[in-house]
Amino acid sequence: MNAVLKPEDAPAEPLLKVRDLVKHYPLKGGVFKRVVDKVHAVDGVSFDLAQGETLGLVGESGCGKSTTGRCILRLIEPTSGEVWFDGKNVIAQDRSQLRALARDMQIIFQDPYASLNPRMTVGSIIGEALAIHKLAANAKAATDRVVELLEMVGLNPDYLRRYPHEFSGGQRQRIGIARALAVSPKLVVCDEPVSALDVSVQAQVINLLEDLQEKLQLTYLFIAHDLSVVEHFSDRVAVMYLGRIAEIAPARELYRRPLHPYTEALLSAVPVPDPEVKRHRIMLKGDVPSPIHPPTGCRFHTRCPIAQLPLCSTETPVLKDAGEGHMVACHFRG
Ligand code: ADP
Ligand code: MG
Repeated sequence: MNAVLKPEDAPAEPLLKVRDLVKHYPLKGGVFKRVVDKVHAVDGVSFDLAQGETLGLVGESGCGKSTTGRCILRLIEPTSGEVWFDGKNVIAQDRSQLRALARDMQIIFQDPYASLNPRMTVGSIIGEALAIHKLAANAKAATDRVVELLEMVGLNPDYLRRYPHEFSGGQRQRIGIARALAVSPKLVVCDEPVSALDVSVQAQVINLLEDLQEKLQLTYLFIAHDLSVVEHFSDRVAVMYLGRIAEIAPARELYRRPLHPYTEALLSAVPVPDPEVKRHRIMLKGDVPSPIHPPTGCRFHTRCPIAQLPLCSTETPVLKDAGEGHMVACHFRG
């Protein structure tokens, strides 16, 4: 065996690196509209995403998933932290540089009813990005490309001149996918792309996203609020709770060996197809606390079945390595 490492064997830099990402939304009040408080939507999120990989980002509604996704694309400005995409510092990019980056990073939104302009035809919705980025030499080339994109997402190319209201939720989401893919992006943030769809069409859209990933070598940040959706689809899964990552691990490892008590509770709610496997349903006490005044220390301690005070209410657990690429932020696990 020749043990000499060739340059192509060296571990590639991740396509996306997120470091200590923070987003606090100011809350204004009183007659002077002063900032009276802030929502700690995202509070120190870090992860890597390799080219071609799918990272599932999972957590209950309001835990900061969409905010994380939007900060990465700079659709909203983060309060602090770093985002590196393809070696470029996203946060330091000026407007024109950002426009160029927007070709490489796209988003598919949760609500296929709200995210498509009702006054535009399908052709112009999908073709808009081609025009903005000057990706078609002429009108004929633009139409050809839109037809190609419609076929790619499994829609009839004759739909070109129709309006969004003429389509079902699943078809609209396919239009949203075609729009995102029009510019040939490398990274696609899928922000709960199937949550608003009927269960019967969810699997079709997920299958489509999987096929497209393989065909176009896409990298996905796949946001979902429950673990069952990301289970088969993700290479790795990050579990978020109140603005922080509680646990991150290769998907199979996370399902087989959940370490964080919050992940255990989420997993216990996922139906197991195998009747031989019995999972004990863990009911968490209370509601998710307000992100305006999140709990001190470990944010999960107010609901955690294994919390010990004062440790968990005073010391913030950091993500630590539990082997097999598995990281967990808990004082008692890992
Ligand atoms: P998720 O996508 O996980 O449901 P979000 O990122 O949408 O969570 O929201 C995280 C938190 O930030 C929530 O408490 C939400 O109410 C709050 N939030 C989101 N957008 C804004 C905003 N523009 N102003 C103030 N608070 C916001
Ligand atoms: Mg969301």
